[in-house]
Amino acid sequence: MIVRTPLIAGNWKMNLTLTDSVSLIKSIAEAIQELTNVDVLVTPPYTSLSVVKETIGDARIALGAQNMHWESKGAFTGEISGLMLVEAGCTHVILGHSERRSLFQETNEMVNKKVKAALEQGLIPIVCIGETLEEREGHQTFDVIQDQLNGSLAHFLVESIIPRTTILAYEPVWAIGTGKTATPEQAQDVHQYIRHWVEGHFGKDTADHLRILYGGSVKPDNAGELMSMPDIDGALVGGASLRPEQFIPIIRF
Ligand code: PEP
Repeated sequence: MIVRTPLIAGNWKMNLTLTDSVSLIKSIAEAIQELTNVDVLVTPPYTSLSVVKETIGDARIALGAQNMHWESKGAFTGEISGLMLVEAGCTHVILGHSERRSLFQETNEMVNKKVKAALEQGLIPIVCIGETLEEREGHQTFDVIQDQLNGSLAHFLVESIIPRTTILAYEPVWAIGTGKTATPEQAQDVHQYIRHWVEGHFGKDTADHLRILYGGSVKPDNAGELMSMPDIDGALVGGASLRPEQFIPIIRF
């Protein structure tokens, strides 16, 4: 049986000063010293990446960014490339977060280009997908998920291959920052659907290894139950990742 090491990832969004970031990372690093069976990742704002990387030192905490452009350089005012993220010490990048999709009009096509560029730069993409409340209530969840997967990974479908290190994150939009969490069963249903989709397009080996995270109001008191589901391989945590007293118990689920 394949054992997928759980990954607990913190999405700091546009939060935390440099001083707060350093202090949070120090607390996490100290708390996870003895833990070997869980991977931890933080994704600070761009301006904190280098400082956070330096503070992480030898601790087993991976560094990621929250977005990137698909070009490696050029006249794209305000944008950051994958190459720059690698230089700042990143190994991962979140792509297609629902806030990017809804507030910044990011389409599946753009996400597809970003996933391709990230992998070309050696970054591990964390590709976010998830339905709105309206779509869930309209019984469209699986169609929406399928559409987002087909569009966001379009390039890879042509070749029928994607690195099995790629990470997918199921984040129901109605659960992000709302305090409403999908029940473990609701989340498992979608995760299982995603894994079947991956198997259908990229084969069983990739489906068995690829990690699928759940995101949406994960807190210390619901993390354990969610993580006990067979197809949930970790969590993408927003609000609770900003506070050590919440994030550390989630890592220790
Ligand atoms: C997120 O933004 O990825 C997220 C899951 O946020 P929260 O945990 O605050 O719902």
